[in-house]
Amino acid sequence: MNLKDYITNVPDFPKKGIQFKDITPLIANGKAFRYATLQFKKFAKEIDADIIVGPDARGFIFGCPLAYELEIGFIPVRKPGKLPRETIEYSYDLEYGSNTLCLHKGDIKPGQRVLIIDDLLATGGTMEATIKLVEESGAIVAGLAFLVELEALNGKEKLNGHKYITLMSY
Ligand code: AMP
Repeated sequence: MNLKDYITNVPDFPKKGIQFKDITPLIANGKAFRYATLQFKKFAKEIDADIIVGPDARGFIFGCPLAYELEIGFIPVRKPGKLPRETIEYSYDLEYGSNTLCLHKGDIKPGQRVLIIDDLLATGGTMEATIKLVEESGAIVAGLAFLVELEALNGKEKLNGHKYITLMSY
């Protein structure tokens, strides 16, 4: 199956100059969505993951079916103001301004082997922040998975040498 058939390129969204990769046609197709999930499952087994973590919001879309397939848990990393209990937080710079991500304190246990998953690797800032939160919890980042990588943006340099897979590259 060629997963690129299910990605739509939207020029100049959300602002001029950005080539937005719309993944919604892929998740709207049951066979493509399951195929992608099973590729992630293979990797999760290889790295012996015992918990899945995904950042707000598209990390949830791919992380939840994967966790369900593996019969392991899913833990969301969220934007500020969404998680009701005490959180740990990490702020990072975007091209303009900054962003903060939060994780419930104590939800990831020290020593757990974590697979972090997101839809797309662009500059790597989102994944870098998520890695920091997982590491601060005392857990092990066993691997990272992305549906799409935008190679020209060099996000892999922010992944701190962690093992990762991408199902598609542009
Ligand atoms: P970054 O932190 O720069 O690696 O950006 C990654 C996050 O932003 C991902 O969670 C994507 O959902 C979103 N994103 C960034 N650039 C794009 C793009 N060109 N197309 C679609 N989503 C993007």
